Amino acid sequence: YPSPDDSSVYEVNIGSPELLLDDAAEYKELTENGKRLKKLKDDTASYILGRLGMSEKEIQDTLKKAYDFDTELAKYQKTLLEMYDPSYVTEAINIVKLDDLKEMSPDFPLVQYMEKYDWAKSDIIDVEWPDSIKGLNGLYTEENVEKIKAKLLVDSAYNYINMLDEDAYRTFQKLQNEYSGITENESDQELAYQAARSAFPDSFARLYIEKFLNEDIRRDVTELCRDCIDTYRDMLDNTDWLSESTQKAAKDKLDKIKIHAVYPDKWEDYSIYHVKAKEEGGTYFEAVSDFSKAMDLRDRGRINQKIDKEIWGIDILETNAFYDHTDNSINIVPGFFCDATYSEKMSTEQKYGALGSVVGHEISHAFDTTGSQFDADGNVRDWWTKEDKEAFDERADKLVKYYDKIVAFDDGTPYQGQIVQTEAIADMAGFKCMLLMAKDIKDFNYDEFFKAHMYLLARVYTLERAESSVLSDPHPLYYLRGNVNVQQFDEFYETYDIKEGDGMYLAPEDRIAVW
Ligand SMILES: [Zn+2]
Repeated sequence: YPSPDDSSVYEVNIGSPELLLDDAAEYKELTENGKRLKKLKDDTASYILGRLGMSEKEIQDTLKKAYDFDTELAKYQKTLLEMYDPSYVTEAINIVKLDDLKEMSPDFPLVQYMEKYDWAKSDIIDVEWPDSIKGLNGLYTEENVEKIKAKLLVDSAYNYINMLDEDAYRTFQKLQNEYSGITENESDQELAYQAARSAFPDSFARLYIEKFLNEDIRRDVTELCRDCIDTYRDMLDNTDWLSESTQKAAKDKLDKIKIHAVYPDKWEDYSIYHVKAKEEGGTYFEAVSDFSKAMDLRDRGRINQKIDKEIWGIDILETNAFYDHTDNSINIVPGFFCDATYSEKMSTEQKYGALGSVVGHEISHAFDTTGSQFDADGNVRDWWTKEDKEAFDERADKLVKYYDKIVAFDDGTPYQGQIVQTEAIADMAGFKCMLLMAKDIKDFNYDEFFKAHMYLLARVYTLERAESSVLSDPHPLYYLRGNVNVQQFDEFYETYDIKEGDGMYLAPEDRIAVW
């Protein structure tokens, strides 16, 4: 990872032990989503352990031991909700020396492992959550050996089931579909493509660029990003609740935002990887395992090295757009482009309603509760005053309370506004940025703009997926991202003649846009 104090160099980062149910909160009270995930893990383990010759009773016994151990591990870990709290950025930075690690973990051989595989040579060692390491050490006892074995078996069953043989693969596909509530599989060819691309994203990206992209597209998207950044400068100038010094620091950060638009000039070198083809007797399992060994070598080669920032280190064909706090960059890449998000042929209104509002969204992350803790170079350094933070929180609180009241499902489970805080703020800031840009355009067609924005956000969910999102996705459900967003702005009321008493009406004093 980039080091928090100096994001231009790598550090060794020690995370927390992985839990079968992902979120420590699930071990206190299982949610609907937790129950489904547990069923997926249990059924996966049952299938693999059954094929290894275990009886039904042995399987149940193994599962029980694995969860007993996990339940103990979870006690020393932060819940997902706690990790979404902006204060976790600094809480999760704990720079240690090897001696500190030895003290944290005298029995569990963490330091021996690090010494054996070079990790101990790193000048910077950072522990995400020391309690979880101490907890693991405390549970690493003779008495727990059978439970630890069970946990490793259940974990391995899940991690390897999709690369063993066809029967195992199809079984996992079926179980995963049940988990997410879908009935149709993607084609094998599509899945093979995804697997290969996730290992070698840059190779696929370069082929894709050759066939489908050109300099004009890169220029067009870069320009849209620049226009957004310029408009943010005005937005910051007109923000009366930020102190003057913070306003200045914000503009400095804005000036230094790196635009990663469409594709980079420099690519990852893959020569370290060797995959044995099927014709040479290679298997998928071997390919995956050789790949992860090579990744390990690559990472060890990065110890104490500078980060090459010209290599973006992302999969530009992934359907995503994002802001990266550690290098102050917005990443707007072709995997995100489709007829709803961006095409060269769109009108200005459509571009603003679709990709433009996304670019605006990403920029706002430089200035939210997490962004306020990273400086213009991506180092962890709080650049807000106490007063700025209070003023921001006061505005953000109104939004959190608004979302806390939303009940998205019949079962009465309310939203947790804290989880969606930064993403909901970003949506509205990005949208405001576009509306400001629209003001400079003669005869701007707002109807076309709003429709393009709603088309951008239209989604089909399964109920399972939606429930899972409400619990763990920092983005609000898409219908809310659309509806709540447009309700904040006068242009929407004017365009569609919305009045008090209409379903989409929100009184000016109840509006929750922060910027
Ligand atoms: Zn976002």
